[in-house]
Amino acid sequence: MDRRIDRRDFLNGVAVTVAGVSAALGLAQSAVAQEPVNSAANYPPRRLGLRGSFPESVSEFDSIRQGKYATFPVADSEIQEEYDLVIVGGGMSGLAAAHFWRNGLGQNQRILILDNHDDFGGHAKRNEFQHQGRTYIGVGGTLGIATPFPYSYAAKQLVKELGVDVTRNAEFANRDLEAKYDLRAGTFFDKEHFLEDRLVVGNPRSADFFQKVPLQESARKDLIRIHGKNPDYMAGMTNAEKEAKLAKMSYQDYLLHVAKVSPDAIAFFIGNGGRNNKRVDTTPALEAAEHGLPGFNGLGLTLEEKFNEGSYVFHFPDGNASVARLLVNRLIPAAVPGKQDMNTVVQSTVAYDKLDLPNTNMCIRLSSPVVRVQNEGSPENAKSVKVAYMNGGKLKALRGRNCILACYNALIPSLLPEIPQHQKEALAYPAKVPLIYTNVLIRRWTAFQKLGVARVSTPGMYYSSMSLDPGTAMGGYHGVTTPEEPIVVHMVANPNKPGLPRKDQNRFGAHELLTTKFEDFELTIRRQMSRVLSPGGFDPAEDIVALAVNRWPYGYAYTYDTLADPDMPPEQRPHVIGRQRCGRITIANSDAGAAAFTNQAWDEANRAVEELFVLNGLT
Ligand SMILES: Cc1cc2nc3c(=O)[nH]c(=O)nc-3n(C[C@H](O)[C@H](O)[C@H](O)COP(=O)(O)OP(=O)(O)OC[C@H]3O[C@@H](n4cnc5c(N)ncnc54)[C@H](O)[C@@H]3O)c2cc1C
Repeated sequence: MDRRIDRRDFLNGVAVTVAGVSAALGLAQSAVAQEPVNSAANYPPRRLGLRGSFPESVSEFDSIRQGKYATFPVADSEIQEEYDLVIVGGGMSGLAAAHFWRNGLGQNQRILILDNHDDFGGHAKRNEFQHQGRTYIGVGGTLGIATPFPYSYAAKQLVKELGVDVTRNAEFANRDLEAKYDLRAGTFFDKEHFLEDRLVVGNPRSADFFQKVPLQESARKDLIRIHGKNPDYMAGMTNAEKEAKLAKMSYQDYLLHVAKVSPDAIAFFIGNGGRNNKRVDTTPALEAAEHGLPGFNGLGLTLEEKFNEGSYVFHFPDGNASVARLLVNRLIPAAVPGKQDMNTVVQSTVAYDKLDLPNTNMCIRLSSPVVRVQNEGSPENAKSVKVAYMNGGKLKALRGRNCILACYNALIPSLLPEIPQHQKEALAYPAKVPLIYTNVLIRRWTAFQKLGVARVSTPGMYYSSMSLDPGTAMGGYHGVTTPEEPIVVHMVANPNKPGLPRKDQNRFGAHELLTTKFEDFELTIRRQMSRVLSPGGFDPAEDIVALAVNRWPYGYAYTYDTLADPDMPPEQRPHVIGRQRCGRITIANSDAGAAAFTNQAWDEANRAVEELFVLNGLT
């Protein structure tokens, strides 16, 4: 065992270099003492280690599913608080639902958002690292405003109301780093899947790329052929026949059985596939073709470009966590003070203690998983909804005249067991896509510079990519500019189990995320970074300063495809049946739109609010 790679020396995600745990505790305490404002104690973005849906945030979910709270767990006599609207889930959808409600009915409406995490934003989270007097920001989840679907009027309007001008994205994106240091994309080939460990710099579509890859000659020839001009592997079929066939086979089957590449060559594709984090064995070949993946250019297909994201793209340095802040600024100005827009929000302060003040109309209550919601009376005649939740280890309950579930749709049958059986089955149909976004603060990035890479894809390894923070400069925040400076490295993993059907792969990955300890993630990260970067002088023991492993077992909303899902008329799709209103309770969240995008989360919020307006005779 190499101690420099394998030793464990992190405390709450921060490296402890010398004297063990007690010194580490001292270090952590003095850091808190020096920074009473926005320290990790009262400022969740600075909490490191295992983040995302960290263990405490989801610890009630099994009990909820097992029916522990099926009988409403709090007596009516104990219900004191009342709201016009209670929203379950403080992600993009829940925050937008509050905004749309207030736009329609005014600021006197009493609204409460309950969320199980210690921070608002749902998947849209930021990690902040403090190191030597400087703050480094990382994207903890939802990366940006980007979508293959057109933004609706409501979603566009919201972007505008939040003071974001998506056309200005290019102004902030920093390309200097790559140009100045001649950094390019690289691919690391690991010896478990290829002939040896080797980093190859450059574009796989360039002529000499595969000459450098450690491959068997037959696999090399196949990959060069597939990335070049292909013959028509389906000659003799009409375009319609080709498309029908491609829709029902995986990209892997296409490569193996139609394009006839050798099984050894498939390793090159295992880390990538189509939308929704699908892999080579779960991506329909037709989707791969539409996505422009290699192997199809000889088929003569005239495919629509279905995945054009270019029209509506905007990235903050912390991803959409800044968008969540803008929403909270509009909802609770005391918590995110000042007039905030795209120019200022990245450096805004957040007073988490102002999110849930007594005698205010708009509150966000964090660390409060909802365990049960119930219409009071039959769904047809209910005049209010009871909501039970955990907070500080205690069961509590409150009452809303209306309720929006902007949480995970698969949990709704257990939160609201009164819904009809066919709706429960529809809500149970999808399997959310698990993901990990890990941010690693490293002391310097001279190893990347020496190797000539800004990002490395690592097909076959646990993390499928690692990339330097792009150095976005916005609202007074500046990314890193020289290799001697610390920088955040962003690593992405998509845990699943190749070979199983797609939904089972997602479930497997979620389970793995829920049962893997931080120490094991840490070790994987150290080993992977060391294997890829040590030829450039990277030393994990010396160079890793701090880690935030954002695990998202309940990640992307599930989307349908032609391989894993039957053809269904749009109105019979499970997400449409699943999101039906039940009495005074409506259903939002991107799950309800079967699309893992922020604009979808907002559109579903808008629909859920409208449904309640109609119910209340307000439109
Ligand atoms: C790693 C990652 C990267 C992504 N990148 C992008 C991107 O670049 N662009 C994009 O458009 N989309 C991206 N997405 C998709 C993202 O899911 C949506 O854009 C959007 O943020 C979803 O918002 P939401 O409110 O629908 O769901 P969520 O963000 O999941 O919010 C739902 C909230 O409800 C909470 N909740 C669940 N159950 C309960 C309960 N019982 N009680 C209380 N609270 C509960 C959840 O914990 C969560 O906080 C990404 C997703 C992930 C995971």
